[in-house]
Amino acid sequence: MALLHISSLYVGYNSLNVLTDVNLDVEAGTQVVLLGANGSGKTTLLKSLMGLLPVHAGQIVLDTQDITRLGPSARVRAGLAYLSEIGVIASLSVEDNLNIGGYYLTRTLRRQQIRSLYQQLPILYEKRKNPASSLSGGQRKILAFAKVLMGQPRLILMDEPSAGLAPVMVNEMIQILNTYRSHGPAFLIAEQNVKFLEGAHYVYVLDNGQIRFQGTPQDLDADAHIKAAYFGLT
Ligand code: ATP
Repeated sequence: MALLHISSLYVGYNSLNVLTDVNLDVEAGTQVVLLGANGSGKTTLLKSLMGLLPVHAGQIVLDTQDITRLGPSARVRAGLAYLSEIGVIASLSVEDNLNIGGYYLTRTLRRQQIRSLYQQLPILYEKRKNPASSLSGGQRKILAFAKVLMGQPRLILMDEPSAGLAPVMVNEMIQILNTYRSHGPAFLIAEQNVKFLEGAHYVYVLDNGQIRFQGTPQDLDADAHIKAAYFGLT
């Protein structure tokens, strides 16, 4: 049984459907990439998973719980997290942001968790006393990521982590994700940058609100038709 199971999902704005009959699974602890061009419906799918857009039809199950009609905060309690830089509070220090991310953990657990994040993400240790406002765009993304991890979610939804990042920071983000590849939460990463396939366990291609392909990155690499049609690769 998958950690996240989406079946026959229809979502849209007003009465218009943007997503049509979307079926998608994320297994516990895996990294799944949702590839799609601008306007293909990636953000619409992630927002509907967080309860920010109403579902017209279909079902979203997290573990064994039907969350299709739950509000966003109940979904967070169920183990979902949405990675967004809006979650970083610019006037607070890096460490205080992390403390807020783990506010409901015990003090001891929170400290342990912060220590282990500092080991994995040394830039945050270096900047721990600095206000988040002093971080670069890439560093702020790393802080947002760490803050979400503090909450110990089971599934993290990431909407275009590469957006606005210089290529060197994109590579760093991919490396950070790789360190969580075989342990830690599951990830559903909406992207148009095929570089994110490097560490992915599974990939779905979304086009015009429909899933056009699903398989491993190796399967996608072997599919000349999909590669040519959606990524201009030959
Ligand atoms: P991007 O990478 O540009 O964010 P995306 O794959 O995330 O693209 P969505 O933002 O989900 O795509 O948009 C999918 C479709 O839904 C697009 O055709 C878009 O015009 C439409 N859409 C998005 N937001 C709204 C809205 N608030 N009202 C009406 N239509 C919308």
